Amino acid sequence: MYNEIEDIVKIKERGGAVPISIDDHMIVVLELSNPKFKTQIENAVQKGYRHPIISTKFFEKDMKDPHLFLYQKYNHNYGKDVDEEEYESVMKSVNFCKKSYIRTKNQSCRIHIILDEKAIEYLHNYAKVFKFDAGEGKKEQREVSGVFLLYETTPNTFIVKIDEKNANLGGAEQTSSTDALSTFHTHPIEAYRKHKVCMAWPSIDDYTTFLSIYANGYGMFHILGSIEGIYIITISDKLMKEGREKVRTNMDYYEKEIDKKYHKNYPLCNIDEADKNPDKKLWKKKIDQYLKWMNSLKYFYVQFRFWEDARDPIPIHYKDVNNNCVILDEQVKFNELLLREENAKKIKIDHSHSKHSH
Ligand SMILES: [Zn+2]
Repeated sequence: MYNEIEDIVKIKERGGAVPISIDDHMIVVLELSNPKFKTQIENAVQKGYRHPIISTKFFEKDMKDPHLFLYQKYNHNYGKDVDEEEYESVMKSVNFCKKSYIRTKNQSCRIHIILDEKAIEYLHNYAKVFKFDAGEGKKEQREVSGVFLLYETTPNTFIVKIDEKNANLGGAEQTSSTDALSTFHTHPIEAYRKHKVCMAWPSIDDYTTFLSIYANGYGMFHILGSIEGIYIITISDKLMKEGREKVRTNMDYYEKEIDKKYHKNYPLCNIDEADKNPDKKLWKKKIDQYLKWMNSLKYFYVQFRFWEDARDPIPIHYKDVNNNCVILDEQVKFNELLLREENAKKIKIDHSHSKHSH
């Protein structure tokens, strides 16, 4: 089964063999082994198809060989060419999708990430500097949380940028949880002052939130911006092997285990003095002890970078989604759409294209 993109565009021009309406899910299914595969991909991407996912399941239909699925929503832009920048970026994600597709069981995904300069500045400043107007002339510092976007630069290395549309201000000392692959939040200096601590590694709430995002199908990594530097949380190899389903159905148990085992008191001190004259040796010792402890436990793998090392590549090991090393939240959503059998009833398949109406 495969599609010719020209046909879909033509169908639209002809008024359509199948009625298409705004916001319908337009899906192309391409056979990886088809000799015309490369041209088909290029045409589809040129016409705005994206969010690549490789699957053997298409609604109720099981396919013998994996096929590449691409998606776009039907609207007034449908059938128009995308610009070069969009084309290049989608082609990169298609290539990564093909290259990283996992054909053997119990494998997982490995990439490196590099925080872009603006993301470092953002995390740093929201931990250390910025204050928000809390009304009545009071300025208050709050935790900030949000979502990252990944862009492949060299093969397997991704630049991480803040998704500015998706960065939101949490309540006082509270972070909101978002189902996304890569997320962040900050621990602001005022919280250090209030609690008289000079280090504030991830809290049990931070771990629980990340684990539930992971269980929901996302959760590639989480970054915590703090005064001392950045903490990077990923799921441990051990837990990854058990799969998401088990965590999702036993979330209460995991939460209790985290409450029991993942709390470590913050070292007490005067943060303003410590921040002015940091005793890097002492901080490093404390953080190394902390990491050693956390990484001896079962669920997470935690890394740390001082601010001056925040530009170094960070290795990320993460769980696949249905054998795909996904890098975009939309790929996860698209995959979920493809897996829901009840959607099959709503699908209309034409000879030359597959269309799913909502
Ligand atoms: Zn936190």
